[in-house]
Amino acid sequence: MTAVRRTGYVYHEQYAWHDTGTQAGIIPPGGPVQPYRTFESPESKSRFAGLVEVSGLLDNLTRVRATHATEEQLLRIHSAEYIERLKASSALQGGDGGDGSTPFGAGSYDIARLAVGGTIAATTAVLDRRVDNAYALVRPPGHHALPDTGMGYCLLANVPIALENARRTHGVERVVIIDYDVHHGNGAQSIYWDDPNVLTISIHQERLFPVTGGDTTETGGPSAPGSCINIPLPAGSGNGAYIAAVERVVAPAARSFRPDLILISSGFDPSPLDPLAAMTVTSGGFRDIATRLVELATQVCGGRIVFSHEGGYSPVHVPFCGLAVLEAISGYNTGIEDPFGPSFDYSPALPLKPWQDEIITEAEHLAQMLSGYN
Ligand code: ZN
Repeated sequence: MTAVRRTGYVYHEQYAWHDTGTQAGIIPPGGPVQPYRTFESPESKSRFAGLVEVSGLLDNLTRVRATHATEEQLLRIHSAEYIERLKASSALQGGDGGDGSTPFGAGSYDIARLAVGGTIAATTAVLDRRVDNAYALVRPPGHHALPDTGMGYCLLANVPIALENARRTHGVERVVIIDYDVHHGNGAQSIYWDDPNVLTISIHQERLFPVTGGDTTETGGPSAPGSCINIPLPAGSGNGAYIAAVERVVAPAARSFRPDLILISSGFDPSPLDPLAAMTVTSGGFRDIATRLVELATQVCGGRIVFSHEGGYSPVHVPFCGLAVLEAISGYNTGIEDPFGPSFDYSPALPLKPWQDEIITEAEHLAQMLSGYN
């Protein structure tokens, strides 16, 4: 039986009020394209929060209150020009974060500050030992955001800003950021490229978004060789490939790095039901990943681990994947089975394939070579 832990949980109704407007998923409507929703809509997140409550799990979590991140906190990562631009558009009818794929409506600047603040509050609760670990179910997501622009639905760099805050308030020095969202964690990679005290690890679908970068050969800047690890899995990868990546690359690299804290960019878009990707990680797969990450944190940094929500665009499947992760990190089992389980649990896509193993082996060898462990 798994030990029950005190797990902090952040959610705020305003996260669902961030308005991403009307698109055909990711395509602007017009001409032959009929208007539809933007894939990054409130649905998958608010339904996840709904299931956390209806399942009874909420009663066994510790609510952590999100507050707005201050401009001073944002400016530790973002440029003043970018923040001013966001603020000005948000005060009117909204706009775009900068890449044409990051739409936002009126008031989104404050909601994005609340998402950063949710990740900061969860991290602070863990560092203060008020909880053992935490999950911040925030929106908008943050892992593509860069210092001077939003990108890929992300407005502000939630995890890096929380990390910088932890450095100042709790003397945290070394941090590992692990990103299992199906898209490349280019934001943290770029921000910490030359910082030897932050190890960024991204497991993602090869060349999905951004379409360039995220390769195994990107290993960190001149002052920080080995501080970046990419595991770009081929489309079609499932539970087997993800677990192998965690066991053979993520865990040994994190052990060797000896962090004070682990931050997770938690995306559920490796789900087989996601409209933006082509992976096959089931709710059971996400549960296994989270279980291993919590064990890893126990081994390397006194259990200090914080999950910050990123992508995941299947409104019907994300709630069950998210519940599985929250059950894994809290040790509390609601007894609710994922009703989609039988559709995928026997899929031949789940076990590790040789062509997936090749990439993991390459990442494994590069990480070993650069960090000097075996
Ligand atoms: Zn994603």
